[in-house]
Amino acid sequence: MDDCLFCKMVSREIPPDVVYEDDDVLAFRDINPQAPVHVLIIPKRHISTLNDLQAGDAELIGKLHLAAATVAKLEGVDSAGYRTLINCNEEGGQVVFHIHLHLMGARRMGWPPG
Ligand code: AMP
Ligand code: ZN
Repeated sequence: MDDCLFCKMVSREIPPDVVYEDDDVLAFRDINPQAPVHVLIIPKRHISTLNDLQAGDAELIGKLHLAAATVAKLEGVDSAGYRTLINCNEEGGQVVFHIHLHLMGARRMGWPPG
């Protein structure tokens, strides 16, 4: 996707602040952090929203969560706890239409989220 911000992170046209990377997944720091630790975990392959997932994407979505657990350890928030979430479409608060798992931690999370 030529005009996708997060695809440009994957290609390094825009350099991300990388926390973790493997063949399928890239994790980088959010530019506008909502917690002391705020990392975005994305598939390298472009998928716009949760609604666009196909059955064949199940393993990839699992890998996003495995990467989240790895990032939590790397960032030292695994024991204290953290929040992961995916926003979908306008009312869900999605702004960048390349699916991404937010990982936030190093502060107490409120519930319900806004
Ligand atoms: P969402 O609202 O779920 O689509 O989340 C998009 C996230 O991308 C927001 O938390 C933004 O702060 C973050 N973001 C936007 N541009 C960049 C960028 N250039 N580098 C890192 N994070 C970004
Ligand atoms: Zn993309």
